[in-house]
Amino acid sequence: MSFADLGLSDKVLQAVSAAGYTEPTPIQAQAIPHVLARRDVLGIAQTGTGKTAAFTLPMLTMLETGRARARMPRTLILEPTRELAAQVEENFERYGTNHKLNVALIIGGVSFADQDAKLTRGTDVLIATPGRLLDHFERGKLLLTGVELLVIDEADRMLDMGFIPDIERIVKMVPFTRQTLFFSATMPPEIERLADMFLHNPQRVEVARPASTATTIEQRLVATGAEGHEKRKVLRQLIRSASELQNGIIFCNRKRDVAQLQRSLTSHGFNAAALHGDMDQRARMAALDGFRSGEVPLLVASDVAARGLDIPAVSHVFNFDVPHHPEDYVHRIGRTGRAGRSGAAFTLASRADERSLSAIESLIGRPIEWLDGDLASLPDDAEGDEPRRRRGTRRAKGSERGAEKGSERPSERTSERSSESRSRGGRRAASDRGRGEETRRESIREPEPVSPAREPARSAPERSRSERRPPRRDEDDDTPVGLGSHVPAFLLKPTGFGKSK
Ligand code: AMP
Repeated sequence: MSFADLGLSDKVLQAVSAAGYTEPTPIQAQAIPHVLARRDVLGIAQTGTGKTAAFTLPMLTMLETGRARARMPRTLILEPTRELAAQVEENFERYGTNHKLNVALIIGGVSFADQDAKLTRGTDVLIATPGRLLDHFERGKLLLTGVELLVIDEADRMLDMGFIPDIERIVKMVPFTRQTLFFSATMPPEIERLADMFLHNPQRVEVARPASTATTIEQRLVATGAEGHEKRKVLRQLIRSASELQNGIIFCNRKRDVAQLQRSLTSHGFNAAALHGDMDQRARMAALDGFRSGEVPLLVASDVAARGLDIPAVSHVFNFDVPHHPEDYVHRIGRTGRAGRSGAAFTLASRADERSLSAIESLIGRPIEWLDGDLASLPDDAEGDEPRRRRGTRRAKGSERGAEKGSERPSERTSERSSESRSRGGRRAASDRGRGEETRRESIREPEPVSPAREPARSAPERSRSERRPPRRDEDDDTPVGLGSHVPAFLLKPTGFGKSK
């Protein structure tokens, strides 16, 4: 099957061949003819499958006829995050080089004025995050009654982020007769319900089993204590000893940990940038650009970066925290091992994470090997904040999801978002995890020499926790020694880029 067989216009075909694509991906081959036939499409596809072009290419073809009117966009694409929205805009730029279409990006974190000007000029394609779109609507700057085609992308992510009430409001504002394309990586019952509500006799297109992890990714669990300084030390040693590390994303569950970890890595001589939802848009784009260009090889990120971002060829993913939602694990490690390349994913796990680990293993359908000894190999004082319990048991305190402070949430609007209603988590692994299966790698818990403090001051809650404990040596305060010959030079910071903001 070639692109020419799909019914795309000549202008689009030229742009596709200029982009170097020779063959459509399965989601493109399956979805594009239905989109062009004006059918509603339910696409079940993860990022990395080429799903963005599966809707941008036929949209460009269809938009060649007709023209936009002021404040009345012809098509609307809803994205859960600003980065994803910006990425879709880039797709329109790349594939729309032969078109003269007005594309407007309506996202939070940037001024309204420029966005207003674009809307007034008339837009063919409006790409928006839900919060900012509603803000414009409420200010009377936008009419959605001219929308002929609506794309709801990453619907399961929208659900995770509490956007569904906003989406339902927006869908009520667009004409009932519109064409709708609805994409989601997974189809939990709540998403099925929305698909039933929004789509009319849709063509269902599914390209990859949700929740599968690529076989090209080497996955390992790394046992660690729960304290931040211990985890940071283990992470540094992991990075130093990782083989063939080109670049890596380090995921944290909480935004404040992203900032702290990036500062810590930087102070230890690593070249790392931070990406989380509380950063302003310019800083987020600068961090992403630096990482994409290879200037900054390490990106410390919250889950906002886990889904959808098109960052080619990431060699390593490090989960500084075990994600509370098993699906997030799949999305995080999906940043590596893309397009048949090999990749490595390391997950730091403490005894407090046993339940989340069980849920992940249950979701991916197999146990994950430990790198260098499982939780039972940890010393007795490695309990972190957890009550002491039997070593190596799988029991842990209840899931903290949604309860933690600073967990990633959309911050575009001042209003509180409705809490999520997911029916996930808490699943226990039926499988035994093959304890004691150790790979023969350098130990990563080797002590480092002690030296004066370098780490920035800790946050108040962390300080008070450590004050309750018996005095102990803070290993994270070590001078960054051991960065000799076995540290790839590109990991060392050549410039001030990525310094704490
Ligand atoms: P997406 O799933 O939309 O995030 O796309 C993932 C990556 O695949 C992007 O880097 C696209 O540029 C690339 N891509 C999209 N379609 C094709 C294609 N037909 N052939 C090769 N690469 C593609």
